[in-house]
Amino acid sequence: MAVLFPPRLSLAQTPTPLTPLDRLSEQVGGPRIWVKRDDMTGSAVSGNKIRKLEFSLARALQEGCDTIITCGGVQSNHCRTTALLCAQLGLHCHLILRGEEDSALDGNLLLDRLVDATISFYSNADYQARSTEIYRHWTDHYAAQGKKAFAIPVGASDGHGLWGYIAACKELKADFKQHNIRPGHIVTATGSGGTQGGLMVGAQLFDLDATVWGINVCDDEQYFLDKVQVDIDQWQQWYTENIGSHFLPEQLSINVIDGYVGPGYARATTEIFDTIKLAAKLEGIILDPVYTGKAFYGMLEQLKQGRFTDTEDIVFIHTGGIFGLFPQREQLQL
Ligand SMILES: *Cc1c(COP(=O)(O)O)cnc(C)c1O
Repeated sequence: MAVLFPPRLSLAQTPTPLTPLDRLSEQVGGPRIWVKRDDMTGSAVSGNKIRKLEFSLARALQEGCDTIITCGGVQSNHCRTTALLCAQLGLHCHLILRGEEDSALDGNLLLDRLVDATISFYSNADYQARSTEIYRHWTDHYAAQGKKAFAIPVGASDGHGLWGYIAACKELKADFKQHNIRPGHIVTATGSGGTQGGLMVGAQLFDLDATVWGINVCDDEQYFLDKVQVDIDQWQQWYTENIGSHFLPEQLSINVIDGYVGPGYARATTEIFDTIKLAAKLEGIILDPVYTGKAFYGMLEQLKQGRFTDTEDIVFIHTGGIFGLFPQREQLQL
C-alpha cells in the first residue's frame, strides 16, 4: 500500500480500542456490535474531530499560520477540540458560533471560554446567508494586524480533514486482524460528512471489505450524498500526488441512512435519551443526544429491521460528544 500520508501532527491518543458490546448485542440479537472507541482519543479533546485536525492543523503550520478560524454550533465538539488544540499549540483561535450570545456557560462552550478562544456569535440565518463573507471578514481582520489566519470549515470536513478517517481505517485494519473478525458494516453518525467520507475512502484504500454507512443527524440524504462527494473530489484534487493510482473513485458508493434526525439538529426525542441510558447502564458507554445517540439508536432500529444481518460483526464508530450531554441533562430525567 503506497498511499503517502501528508504532514500530520501527533495529537490524538491512538490507536483507540475496538471493543465488543456483548450484553447489548445479546439483547438486540443479530450480529455482534463492536465499538471503535474514538470517544477516547483524548480527555478534553476527545472525539472524532482531533483525527481530522491532526492533518488540518499540520497544514496550517506548514503554511505559516498563527491563527485558526473555524465555525460550528454553540455546543460544537469540533470548535471545542480546535480551541483546545490551538491552546496546546500556542495558536490563536477564533470561533464563529451559530447561536445565542448569552448561551449558558456549559459543556463545550465552557471549555471554549476556559482556553480563551475569541468567540463571535451569529444567528443561524445570518451565518447561512453570509458564511463566506464572515470567514473573509475575520481573515482580513487578522491580516490587518500582521497575523496569518487559516480557515477550517465546519467539522474540519474538507480535503485535508478527510485524511483523519482514512488513517483511522489503517488502524481498523489492524484491529480486525487482532480480533480476527471481518465486519461487513461500519456505521457512523454523519454531521458534516468528513468522517463518513474518510471512512469510505479509507475502507477502499486499506481493503476493509466493509460497507460504510452514515446516519445523518441533520439535513437529509441528498445533502450528504452531495457533501461527501464534494469532500472526496477536493481531497483527490489536492492530494493527487499522495494518492497515486490506488484510488478508484468509481468503486465508491455513498450510503446514507436517513430518518433519525428527529425534531432537528441537536434536538432529540425520548427514544434517543432512552438509548443513551440503555448504553450507559448496560455497557458503560456514554452517548450524546446530538450525534452518537441518534446514530446508535438508528443502527439498533435498522438491526431489528434486518438490514445488517448478512454479517457476524458490525462496527459502530463512537465519535465522542460527551460534553454535549451536559447542557441537555434535564431531558435525561434521572
Ligand atoms: C462532528 C461529530 C460527528 C459527525 O462527524 P462529521 O465528520 O462532522 O460528519 C459525529 N459525532 C460527534 C460526537 C461529532 O462531534
